[in-house]
Amino acid sequence: MQYANNILETIGNTPLIKLNKLTAELPCLVLSKYETFNPGNSVKDRMALQMIEDAEADGRLKPGGTIIEGTSGNTGMGLALAAIIKGYKCIFVMADKQSKEKVDILKAVGAEVVVCPTAVEPDDPRSYYSVSKRLGEETPNSWYVNQYDNPSNAKAHYQSTGPEIWKQTDGKITHFVVGVGTGGTISGVGKYLKEQNPNIKIWGVDTYGSVFKKYHETGIFDEKEIYPYVTEGIGEDILPKNVDFDIIDGFTKVTDKDAAVYTQRLSKEEGMFLGNSAGAAIKGVLQLKEHFTKDDVVVVLFHDHGSRYVGKMFNDDWMRKMGYIE
Ligand code: PMP
Repeated sequence: MQYANNILETIGNTPLIKLNKLTAELPCLVLSKYETFNPGNSVKDRMALQMIEDAEADGRLKPGGTIIEGTSGNTGMGLALAAIIKGYKCIFVMADKQSKEKVDILKAVGAEVVVCPTAVEPDDPRSYYSVSKRLGEETPNSWYVNQYDNPSNAKAHYQSTGPEIWKQTDGKITHFVVGVGTGGTISGVGKYLKEQNPNIKIWGVDTYGSVFKKYHETGIFDEKEIYPYVTEGIGEDILPKNVDFDIIDGFTKVTDKDAAVYTQRLSKEEGMFLGNSAGAAIKGVLQLKEHFTKDDVVVVLFHDHGSRYVGKMFNDDWMRKMGYIE
């Protein structure tokens, strides 16, 4: 018989799937690392399990403990699945710009969810950074995960996602393109790939309203770059420790409109029903066209599933209201 002993054993080993129509204008092969095939429907299952197991190993997380995190949903799902199997409680803090589906999904896997306003400074006591930190201090036998600065985040991708991509492409990958939020995915995968072949180019996809691109190019943390944006999952108004700017060759910024439109196009033209950051990522690949030549093998990572966005990017009334479609 072939079976997994529990849901956590099915994390990772996701397929690599070729893009066909959307990338027809590019000279090279474009492959997507399709992370929605993880049991929690996102790449975040990998780092959630790693963060928990590392915290168990060094005693930060104790039996029967409560896991506390500020999460836009996917990390919460990964943590919640692991918590169910391993016997922990979860409290998640989310910003109110996140879709209602994401809140409901986390409640469905047994987590308590606290929603905070988006339009406040990170150091405001109402911000989701501050609230999650405070809950961590106030709740007995709790562990505050802090995916932004927790090194187990990038480590998960260094140990699993990176090696999988290297093996699946037979070492032929030339470019890796991925949306950047906490930075765990780009930093872990990028470090592993550059250790195998330093010529591999690592590109981050950023959003307008986020600090990454300007900081990478100038070393300046420019507060003028920060303003509210619609794209979910990528971009930050802080510099997480998990972003290793040294292994990143460059960033490209994608507009909210393009990210939303390309999220729909991936679904309707490739049959890839994916989240908003996948739309941003594939548009980012198209924007980098001039960097690619005929024999290149470009891998773009798609983080999560479309079901979490049915009220937004897959809802034409919402798309019209935002001015993204006629
Ligand atoms: N896309 C989605 C949907 C996400 O939830 C995240 C995590 N915030 C990212 C992209 C960015 O990944 P990372 O945090 O590893 O940079």
